[in-house]
Amino acid sequence: QTNEPEGGATADVAPKSSASAAPVLDIQGLSVTFGGALRVLDGIDLTVGAGELVCVVGESGSGKSVSALATMGLLPPHARVEAEALSFAGRPLLPLGERDLERLRGNEMAMIFQEPMTSLNPVMTIGAQIMEPLRQHRRMGAAEAREVALAMLERVQIPAPRERIDMYPHQLSGGLRQRVMIAMALVCRPALLIADEPTTALDVTIQSQILRLIDELRTEMGTSVLFITHDLAVVSEIADRIAVIYAGRIVEEGTRDQIFEDPQHPYTLALFAALP
Ligand code: ADP
Ligand code: MG
Repeated sequence: QTNEPEGGATADVAPKSSASAAPVLDIQGLSVTFGGALRVLDGIDLTVGAGELVCVVGESGSGKSVSALATMGLLPPHARVEAEALSFAGRPLLPLGERDLERLRGNEMAMIFQEPMTSLNPVMTIGAQIMEPLRQHRRMGAAEAREVALAMLERVQIPAPRERIDMYPHQLSGGLRQRVMIAMALVCRPALLIADEPTTALDVTIQSQILRLIDELRTEMGTSVLFITHDLAVVSEIADRIAVIYAGRIVEEGTRDQIFEDPQHPYTLALFAALP
C-alpha cells in the first residue's frame, strides 16, 4: 500500500487541491504502550475519508479510547505513542507540540465523550462553554459568539435555548448535556469529529435521537466522523465503514454491508452472536 500524495504534475495546480485528496484522518501502524510494559495498541491502521463516518467497534478495554486520545494528542505524558503515519488533513500530528494541538482541538478536530460531565465545566454556563471555542479560535466578540452559541443550541434541539443558555451543566438532563457537548464540539465546524461512545450512558430512545442528530449534522457540515462504540447495533444504521478492534488490533475492516452481511473474523462473529 502506497501513501504517496496525489501528484501535482501540472504546473498551475495549487498545492491545496492535492492536500484535499488526502484522507481527513490517516493512521498507519499506531502503537501505544504505557510505562514501557503494556502494549495497549499494536499497529492500528485506520483512515477516515472526507465526509465519511467510520465506526470502531470493540469490547471494553480493547483500546478504542486510547486510539482516539492518541489522535487528539490527549494521552498522558507516560504514554509512548509510535506510528508510521498519523496525520490530519495531510498534516502530521506526530510529533506535534501542545501549542499546535491546542490550535487544532475544538477547531479543526473535536471530540465528544461518553459522559459529558467529564468534559463540561461544572462551574461555567453552557452558553459560555459553547462560546469558548469561538472566542479562542475565531476571535469572536462576546455578543456575536453568544448569537452563534444560541443558534447552535437551537440546532442541537435544546428546548427553550434562550432560557437554558445561562444554565449550568448540572441543571440539564444527561441527554441535553450530550447535546450541549455536540454543540460545543461542532460550533467551529471541525473537519473531524471523534465521538467516543457518546450514547452509551443514555437510555435507548435518547440514544437513537442523539445518533440521528450526529448523522444529520455531519451531512450538513461535511464533517468526517470517527464513531467509537462497543455496540454493533448502534452503528448499523449510520456507519459507512466499520473497523473491528480486539485487544489493541484491528481484526477486520470493511464497508457496513461487508461487515453485516459477511463477517469473517471469529471476534466479529462473536459480536453478532451477542446482539439481541
Ligand atoms: P476501551 O476500548 O474500553 O476504550 P481503552 O482504550 O480505554 O479501552 O483502554 C485500553 C487499555 O489501555 C486498557 O487495558 C486500559 O486499562 C489501558 N489504559 C488506558 N488508559 C491508560 C492509562 N492512562 N495508563 C495505563 N493504562 C491505560
Ligand atoms: Mg473507552
